[in-house]
Amino acid sequence: MKIEPEKKYRKIATEFVFLVAGILCVAFLLNAIYQYNEERNIAIEQLNVRGNSIGELLASIAIDPLLIYDNLTLNEYVKNTSAQQDIVFAVFYDDGVAITNYLDTNKPIISDIVNDKENINLEETLKILSNSNSVSTLKFPVNFNNRRLANLVIGIDNTSIEALPFKHLINQVVISLLLAFFVGLAVYSAFIRKVSLPIKKLIHAVNNVASFIFDSEIKIKGKNEITELANTFDHMRITLRNAVLERDHTLSEMERFNINLEERVNERTQELHVLNSEMAHQAMHDPLTGLPNRILVIERLNQALQISARNNVRLAVFIIDLNNFKEVNDTLGHPAGDEILQQVAQRLPKALRQSDTVGRLGGDEFAVVLPDTEVDQAKIVAQKILDCLIPSFNLDNQPIALTASIGIAISPDHGAEQSALIRRADVAMYEAKKNDEGFLVYDPEFDLYTPKRLALMADLRHAINENELELYYQPQLNLKTGEVTCVEALIRWQHDEHGMIHPESFIYMAENSGLMNVLSDWVFNQALIDWNDWMNTGLKISIAINLSVRNLVDPDLPDRLSEIQQMHNVPGNFIKLEITESAVMSNPEFAMKIMSHPKLSRFYFAIDDFGTGYSSLSYLKRLAVHEVKIDKSFVLDMDKNEEDASIVRSVIDLSHNLGRSVLAEGVENIETLEILKNLGCDNVQGYLLSVPVAANEVPSLVKRLNQHYLKNVDSVAH
Ligand code: C2E
Ligand code: CA
Ligand code: CA
Repeated sequence: MKIEPEKKYRKIATEFVFLVAGILCVAFLLNAIYQYNEERNIAIEQLNVRGNSIGELLASIAIDPLLIYDNLTLNEYVKNTSAQQDIVFAVFYDDGVAITNYLDTNKPIISDIVNDKENINLEETLKILSNSNSVSTLKFPVNFNNRRLANLVIGIDNTSIEALPFKHLINQVVISLLLAFFVGLAVYSAFIRKVSLPIKKLIHAVNNVASFIFDSEIKIKGKNEITELANTFDHMRITLRNAVLERDHTLSEMERFNINLEERVNERTQELHVLNSEMAHQAMHDPLTGLPNRILVIERLNQALQISARNNVRLAVFIIDLNNFKEVNDTLGHPAGDEILQQVAQRLPKALRQSDTVGRLGGDEFAVVLPDTEVDQAKIVAQKILDCLIPSFNLDNQPIALTASIGIAISPDHGAEQSALIRRADVAMYEAKKNDEGFLVYDPEFDLYTPKRLALMADLRHAINENELELYYQPQLNLKTGEVTCVEALIRWQHDEHGMIHPESFIYMAENSGLMNVLSDWVFNQALIDWNDWMNTGLKISIAINLSVRNLVDPDLPDRLSEIQQMHNVPGNFIKLEITESAVMSNPEFAMKIMSHPKLSRFYFAIDDFGTGYSSLSYLKRLAVHEVKIDKSFVLDMDKNEEDASIVRSVIDLSHNLGRSVLAEGVENIETLEILKNLGCDNVQGYLLSVPVAANEVPSLVKRLNQHYLKNVDSVAH
């Protein structure tokens, strides 16, 4: 950027010189005029003195000739007097009549009058002379013994008074102008040298700096304000140059750092891809038996349902539940139970075709999917399964007998949808178990006799209205400060008959029966009521609330949440919404919409169960999420399992690189907490701190935890 001079500008030097020369001229001129006046006054004074002394002398010597009327002598006197310098004429009057008649007509002033007018007489000539500006007259009486003999009038030439001072005045003016000119010239050249040129240099230097050219040094000789300015500016130039160099250096460092970071993110993304695919397998299989787990069974069932529908054939779903397995567990212990489950898992596939799927749903519950199968065929397979379980199981050489109950649902007869089929196979299984039937094919009648599951749904609606639901809270501890900063709201259902029901048993139901919105509204509302109760006890803490996958697709959710939030007057930055990674991945646009919704702009967002949803990190980058919540399945065993620990480490590093904070859930022991602290994890949650507790217990729990961890935060780290 070059600073252009203004188009029309006057040089300071010119202005300055005009000013100095002007002042000088005026000063000299005033002085000359003063001098001129002084000289003139002196000349007038001298002339008067001379005129008076000549006049008085003449008046005194004229007495005698006047007494004797000797006009000849008088004329002689007058003639001599007129010959004096500056005297124009001298005349004696008696009673106003001139008695001498000499006029020196050689004097130019008189000859001018005489030549001008012909036949002019003496009286007239004297009158003209007396009135002339060039002549001033002096009058002297001539007395003798107090008698007036005559009056003497002398005419004095004024012109000499003006002439000399005027000449001096002219000289003075000329000298003044010359002096002013030379002084001006000297000042001008000094100004150019001392001021203008250095300023030009400075302008050039400023332009250089403005154009980021820092290497031309400014040197101005001398020691004055301008050189001082130049030195200061040069100092500034050096400071600026250093600052710019430093900035450039920082920028290139940052560039390098960014490239590095990008590389690391890519590397880690790659690593996580590998881990993800391993995890995908793990996530799809039951670790105890190696059989497909519930997720994979459902996925296979969905695929099989599509193929069956296309080919217009039937499909069968079995739910198999071992009878009295609880007793085996209770009497022989869990390891024995696990051993038997493994043996069952080995036998089941033998009763099936290659294209069938057998999986473990959890506990002692298994499921089988038989594509392209009619009811009769299904019954045969069910019997084969029961048969294969007849030989006793071997446990440390001890024979154990086990039976099973099988419920069968057929598509499309009992439902075209996976969830309906599984539920109906489940109902049939309960019915078979109840009646000791071995296996039973679903019959709508069964639902009449097993009101439990379906009634539960009606109960849930009722429970929401009647406030049978309750929120429990589990603390989240900030590892950096040792303070509990947030509590997660976890729903509980205190059922009249069934006692405390955990969410995993009914959230799924609520999601599939259109109840999720009502339930979430209830949770949100209740959580904010509890928040205000705690505020009244002096506890100001954030609250984390879980959203279901169904909430994401509800277009009114943001409006309702912000309405409830405003009703309870809770600042948005005290509210954290947890959305599971799988919910995000199943509806990415909806998730993004909610996370960046203007009405929820102050809310915090956490990705729950991170690591189970197969999201790519590039997604995380695009989401407006603040926190990544590592799923407890990686955390629970990370103190023993290297692989889990390395996944946790990767997630922490990557999340930090992307500027997100990390919470590890499922922290059950102090070893895990220490490892997490060393890995730089920001927050933890888990049974180590506390199981979820009722709302009224939160203030005392938080206080206790704060006291403990604020004190121990450092010792925990080492
Ligand atoms: P989540 O969001 O992953 O919640 C954490 C679950 O892990 C809770 O189970 C909690 O009690 C349990 N947990 C906490 N610390 C530990 C630990 O150290 N070890 C182990 N093994 N488990 C721990 P909970 O309360 O049964 O909730 C289960 C799930 O139900 C929640 O999983 C959440 O997905 C869902 N849920 C609970 N409340 C709500 C709700 O209000 N709305 C929605 N949409 N879902 C909810
Ligand atoms: Ca959660
Ligand atoms: Ca979770």
